[in-house]
Amino acid sequence: MDTVEILRTLVAFDTTSCRSNLDLIRWVAAYLGDHGIAARLVGSDDGAKANLLATVGPDVAGGIVLSGHTDVVPVDGQSWNSDPFTLVEREGRFHGRGAADMKGFIAACLAAVPRWRRLSLRRPVHLALSYDEEVGCFGVPRLIAELRAHVQTPALALIGEPTEMRIGLAHRGFYGHRIIFRGRPAHSGDPALGNSAIEPAAMLVAELARLARALSLRGNRTTFNVGRILGGTAINIVPGCCEVLWEFRPPDEASAVVVKAEVERLLAVVPPGVYVEMTQIAGVPALAASADGTVAATARSLGARWPPREIPFGTEAGFFEQAGIPAVVCGPGAIAQAHQPNEWVAASELGAADRLLAEVGTWAAR
Ligand SMILES: [Zn+2]
Repeated sequence: MDTVEILRTLVAFDTTSCRSNLDLIRWVAAYLGDHGIAARLVGSDDGAKANLLATVGPDVAGGIVLSGHTDVVPVDGQSWNSDPFTLVEREGRFHGRGAADMKGFIAACLAAVPRWRRLSLRRPVHLALSYDEEVGCFGVPRLIAELRAHVQTPALALIGEPTEMRIGLAHRGFYGHRIIFRGRPAHSGDPALGNSAIEPAAMLVAELARLARALSLRGNRTTFNVGRILGGTAINIVPGCCEVLWEFRPPDEASAVVVKAEVERLLAVVPPGVYVEMTQIAGVPALAASADGTVAATARSLGARWPPREIPFGTEAGFFEQAGIPAVVCGPGAIAQAHQPNEWVAASELGAADRLLAEVGTWAAR
């Protein structure tokens, strides 16, 4: 099967994040099995979804991980000119949900498997397909845990998010939190009988704004947003509960550590009688790879377009980096088409991905 045929098959599986991706994963496992490659499935807690890990080539260190997420964003409320789950070609563009983000890349990887099998690879090529990327990168941590447990350390990971085949070495992280303040409600005729949950919440929000300004003055590009506050019940009741949803986006993981420590310190000094609980509800590490490093050079030699560009969206790359596997982002299609109605990937982009993956085989056989 060529890349377009496989893409047609992958698009036909409705793997919107709220649904199971198992039909797609099982199809990929069967396809790999037909080519003599065993796939390891790593399921979600409820068993409704799975990651897939497979290796072509020898069981040695120094291989390359090709990483893609199998889920897609919803088509609800979007106006499409054709069925989103049927790949349609119009004027050199292949339309369908996930065509750019990022089933085109996965299709190109799968189409390259028979070629890699014919070469006598000296370094392995690992396929790592995840679930639930679009809703907060919830699948990839256990995929990486499986990789670390069963695969000798790879030299690099290439995340095929749509960059029009340009190399991406950096993007900001994303950390989302829910903080719940619990005080004691009372009649506001005598506020001393209660403990306001809104006051410490408001102070925290002001402190976050102050922290943002302080970091900015030091030249740090971390941004903050308090997206929602929900607290209290009535004008004449001391509020017993207040919930704050907030996020920050650090340019690197060192900045994330600074922010987390600062917020922990702020939460440690709430007034007596108020209890506070913070939960991280999303955590996508930043990617900050070096343009001078060997991994960037390797990706460039494989055909990733130069010069690097900062990526305006989060990816799974930072998770690989945190696990000690240097990662870069490079894949077919444009982020401008991702998540849009009539999402498309250009035939020329799929061709460029095919060439890069052929080079991956040459690199691995060297
Ligand atoms: Zn994506």
